Amino acid sequence: MTVRDLIILGCSSQQPTRRRNHGAYLLRWNEEGLLFDPGEGTQRQFIFANVAPPCVNRIFVSHFHGDHCLGLGSMLMRLNLDKVTHPIHCYYPASGKKYFDRLRFGTIYHQTIEVIEHPIAEEGIVHKDEKFQIEAYFLEHGVDNVGYRVKEPDIHKFDREKLKVHGVQGPLVRELGKKGSILIDGKQIALDDVSWVRKGDVFATLIDTLPCKNAITVAKDAKLLLCEATYLEEHRDLARKHRHLTAKQAAEIAKEAGAQQLVLTHFSARYLDLEPFLTEARPIFPNTDFAEDFKRFDFPR
Ligand SMILES: [Zn+2]
Ligand SMILES: [Zn+2]
Repeated sequence: MTVRDLIILGCSSQQPTRRRNHGAYLLRWNEEGLLFDPGEGTQRQFIFANVAPPCVNRIFVSHFHGDHCLGLGSMLMRLNLDKVTHPIHCYYPASGKKYFDRLRFGTIYHQTIEVIEHPIAEEGIVHKDEKFQIEAYFLEHGVDNVGYRVKEPDIHKFDREKLKVHGVQGPLVRELGKKGSILIDGKQIALDDVSWVRKGDVFATLIDTLPCKNAITVAKDAKLLLCEATYLEEHRDLARKHRHLTAKQAAEIAKEAGAQQLVLTHFSARYLDLEPFLTEARPIFPNTDFAEDFKRFDFPR
């Protein structure tokens, strides 16, 4: 079984603190490394986290505020230095193309790696293969800002008893799995008659947004939801003004979306203690934790 976890490389908002670096989040899944929102200093955070940067093969930028992308150029240069042989796919809101280019080519740079850009202009599926699909939806943050949703395909699991009852055995099982239905002794057997569906796992990120409909779409049934909570309710006015969430609002989104586990992040530098974030969120969504630099969350089984 491969590793499947989320590593927090930073969890501050705009202004880093002694304990919290600019945000950056590494999801290791299906032998891939998905890096979300590499803020300033991400390259060095990999060293402290004891993770080798070449595991990264996809980089996602939610939006082009500095705390979400200032580490993009140096991460690409690092991967270049490490001479990675796999392509690096980069996803970002299409309207930020000029910022992407500036960050990527901001310094002298002899590029040898292959960077494949995926500017996102339309909502929906931005990547799909047999392992997972990635969806992107625009959030409410005053600038183009994308929430990402990574989803495995649903899998049919055969029920042994039902297979027996319907007389499906040997190579017929495989054939049924492939075709969706087969004829046995003049009787049509459908896949649904002899199987159950294991819902594919979902990972979702909501970083920098007001509560909105698309936040629920992104987070729907997520096993693990990484969500910003820049403020506490006592600063709800500020949250509204700067188009951010409070811990309570993040918990409400997780609850409405039917998520399984919530990790809060993107904390304002004004908060030294993060316990109040749990005090606020857990009455609404009990399975809540807060991010801390270098904390690792196993993907729930
Ligand atoms: Zn931010
Ligand atoms: Zn922002």
